[in-house]
Amino acid sequence: RHGISIAQVKSDFPLLKQHVNEKPLVYLDSAASAQKPLEVIERINDFYQNEYASVHRGVHHLSAEATSNMETVRQQVCQFIGASQREEIVFTSGTTEAINLVANSYGRINFKSGDEIIVSEMDHHANIVPWQMLAEAMQLNIKVWPVSDNGELSLDSLVCLLSERTVLVAVCHVSNVLGTVNPIRAIADIIDRHNTALERGASSGDSGVSNRARVRFLVDGAQAVMHQKVDVKQLGCDFYAFSGHKVYGPTGTGVLYAKHDLLQNMQPWQGGGSMIQSVDLYKGTEFNAAPWLFEAGTPNITGIMGLGAALRYLKRVGFEQISVHENKLTQMVLEALRNIPEVCIYGHAESRVGVIAFNLGKHHAFDVGAFLDRYGIAIRTGHHCAMPLMQRYGVKAMCRVSLAMYNTSDDIAKLVHALRHIQKLLQNA
Ligand code: PMP
Repeated sequence: RHGISIAQVKSDFPLLKQHVNEKPLVYLDSAASAQKPLEVIERINDFYQNEYASVHRGVHHLSAEATSNMETVRQQVCQFIGASQREEIVFTSGTTEAINLVANSYGRINFKSGDEIIVSEMDHHANIVPWQMLAEAMQLNIKVWPVSDNGELSLDSLVCLLSERTVLVAVCHVSNVLGTVNPIRAIADIIDRHNTALERGASSGDSGVSNRARVRFLVDGAQAVMHQKVDVKQLGCDFYAFSGHKVYGPTGTGVLYAKHDLLQNMQPWQGGGSMIQSVDLYKGTEFNAAPWLFEAGTPNITGIMGLGAALRYLKRVGFEQISVHENKLTQMVLEALRNIPEVCIYGHAESRVGVIAFNLGKHHAFDVGAFLDRYGIAIRTGHHCAMPLMQRYGVKAMCRVSLAMYNTSDDIAKLVHALRHIQKLLQNA
């Protein structure tokens, strides 16, 4: 099959055909994890049934085929995010591992005591905790980039936060709570100008900044890659991380993109098989080349094949259809929520995707989520691994509706109908 029409997408996802609590399932929790199209499930099945073998070490047919197919997926990922070459793509178990890899393989080697890392108030714990751990171990300072009232990051605040001690800006491309799409290219430009100014200062002999590391820019793309075409070269970031399971692929797969010259100079953080050239108990170990030296142990071969199938599927649907469709549904949700009494929506960014956080009066998000479940509607409730953002808004929990390409206007109508009903029920409770 070639192109896939957006109208047909839902029927390609077997799980979405089921009933929950005797109601047809309405799945609105894709930001937590997306469902899988049949092609992905079949690819995994087929690999286990007909092609399964380990990679790298084998000279036999199956192993050679598996190795070559895995490297083909690396090439696919490279094209998917617009990297320059497949050697810039490291397979990881997810966004979390990709960010921890940068902390350990780049940060530990390049940062010094007193250096500063800028993280935003809207980031997921996966892009906060690794930096806090590194800061603790290396006496670094974390600086917080605040979120404005409408759920955005101001570029002026970034300019104020950057200093001669800054070594990293770590920020999400899209917020997993507010749905805000951050202006990554504009952030990269500010960082570039800052670096250029520092280098000029250094060459004119100013203030001992000559051996300072440049400020690097890490983007957590976990909530971005399924909604819009990402081109890491156009975005201008140094590192970009995402998870396979949110992009309609299997769990336990993920990607770290790192600019070629950076990756060449990073040190492995996990040692083991596959990442070596030679091991000698007396002379030590010679490592493999990048990106393979960052992939110690047997990789998630089957998952990677599934990821390849997911990216093929996405390509055939195409981001043009996906973004038009998802934007339409996002506007429907927002408009309907605005018309339900007592609903408070968090985040009003101009540039956004279909991740919508709200609360219903003073009612706990958990109650709203549990009620919706009775209608067969799956949403997320809680802190969404973004406790600092909950603090920013002065709440413990939020409800979150998150859309994917397989959602329909019928899903939204059911959500709105149920929410109106719950609002009335809770009002009288
Ligand atoms: N960052 C963001 C913005 C996310 O939404 C998530 C997943 N909720 C992660 C990082 C972590 O991804 P994973 O658990 O797949 O490693």
